[in-house]
Amino acid sequence: MPENKVKKYFSLVEVWAWCDICQDMVALSVDKDEIHNGLEMGIYTKEFKHKNPHPELEDPDDLSGDEHTIYVYINDNYDVTGVKSFFGDSPTIESLEEAAAASGATEVRIPIIIKDVPATSVHLGMITPDEYKVLKICDGMNTLEQVAEIAGQNLEDVEKMMEKLHKKGLVDVIKRV
Ligand SMILES: [Zn+2]
Repeated sequence: MPENKVKKYFSLVEVWAWCDICQDMVALSVDKDEIHNGLEMGIYTKEFKHKNPHPELEDPDDLSGDEHTIYVYINDNYDVTGVKSFFGDSPTIESLEEAAAASGATEVRIPIIIKDVPATSVHLGMITPDEYKVLKICDGMNTLEQVAEIAGQNLEDVEKMMEKLHKKGLVDVIKRV
């Protein structure tokens, strides 16, 4: 799988992200203002619906000509820390199971935010900036391992953080063995 690429300009960034469904790079340009507004100290998620303009017409399994969504996670340094593609509103549980297996996990753990936390919670010292960032990625679309990767933190730290945030009633971790 080719590396995702980013070119940073004065007011925008150009991103080439690998779409698993198209089996090709998808090019996007994103305003830095848009990223700043969405970041709020965390991770910005760029959502982009598209169709593969050149699907493999001979291949009945290639559905990339149908509209699908790519999520590109961008951090405050304008680097891409995660990409995922899916049909419909969210990735299927099967694709999350595959992702968990690929990262060597024996069970599928999907953290989901259950209480929306405003950015002011960080200023008030209720949660740390790292916890806030991680919470924003707990959108039900990522396994615990993917959350750690997107947030740029190690898995053990994120596991501990999840326990703490769960006790605070902010996040639930759904498990499937
Ligand atoms: Zn695609």
